[in-house]
Amino acid sequence: MDSKIAGKHPHAEAWMRYADDLGLGPFYLRRSASQRPPAAENAGEPAVAAAPTISVAAPPPIAAAAKPAAPASVPALPHPAPRTSDAPKPLPSPSLVLQVAGPSLFEERIENDSLDRIRADITPNCTRCKLHKARKQIVFGVGNPKAELVFVGEGPGRDEDEQGEPFVGRAGKMLTDMIAAMSLRRQDVYICNVVKCRPPENRLPEKDEIATCSPYLIRQLDAIHPKVICCLGACSAQTLLNTTQGISRFRGEWFDFRGAKLIATYHPAYLLRNPAAKPEVWKDLQKVMAVLGLQPAKRTKNS
Ligand code: URA
Repeated sequence: MDSKIAGKHPHAEAWMRYADDLGLGPFYLRRSASQRPPAAENAGEPAVAAAPTISVAAPPPIAAAAKPAAPASVPALPHPAPRTSDAPKPLPSPSLVLQVAGPSLFEERIENDSLDRIRADITPNCTRCKLHKARKQIVFGVGNPKAELVFVGEGPGRDEDEQGEPFVGRAGKMLTDMIAAMSLRRQDVYICNVVKCRPPENRLPEKDEIATCSPYLIRQLDAIHPKVICCLGACSAQTLLNTTQGISRFRGEWFDFRGAKLIATYHPAYLLRNPAAKPEVWKDLQKVMAVLGLQPAKRTKNS
């Protein structure tokens, strides 16, 4: 906590202690590729606020149900895979215990919910959080409403805000390549974000924004009812798993999320900055493919 505030401003002090207790990351950091440091612990995705933390065991990993396919070859994601020395170092998996912040706030399901209904409930003019002030449009999500696989990112960036579709910028191109390496097309999967409006200057979504918008994400996931949810980066993983732990501690592990299998991997934007992490992401995607019965795409001369 800031020592200048301690004692002089009891109210501020209480808030800061509360933030410390929650283990909140430096949420004021910007999240654009050029501005974010490649922090190993959070893989460049600073921690996301969650409800008050009590240390309980995570939803149990269900790794046994989905052993990874033997790594074939690293797919033709853009950028060569260079040194591995600066790659985040995951903890050995047997020690995996998530600090989960208690049961989910969204236990109940809405009967006969649909993506159309959720979109209508949000409304194009949503002003529920402060992100509405600078956004051009809501970026709801795109893809197959009955997808077996859903990718969840953080929030729209500039390109997405312009086009109204998630993952259409540079990180989106990377995600599209990842999807193709799994022998799928974008229209086979569903792609959405934790927050539906672009945070200004591509900063991280803030705790209150996530709290306001994530119920719609949960409804989307319930309505699609996929077999697998793949969280891209710390923001979505921490939000859905209700934890403040760094993603490198639990990426590649399986969790149960409201009847779906959930796995977290690094964000495509992180891969743009740290191509050395691609083999780890490919391992995670191969786990997903094993669950969905997919074979890696055949590589062509140009891929
Ligand atoms: N990054 C995200 O997390 N989501 C997008 O839609 C685009 C970039």
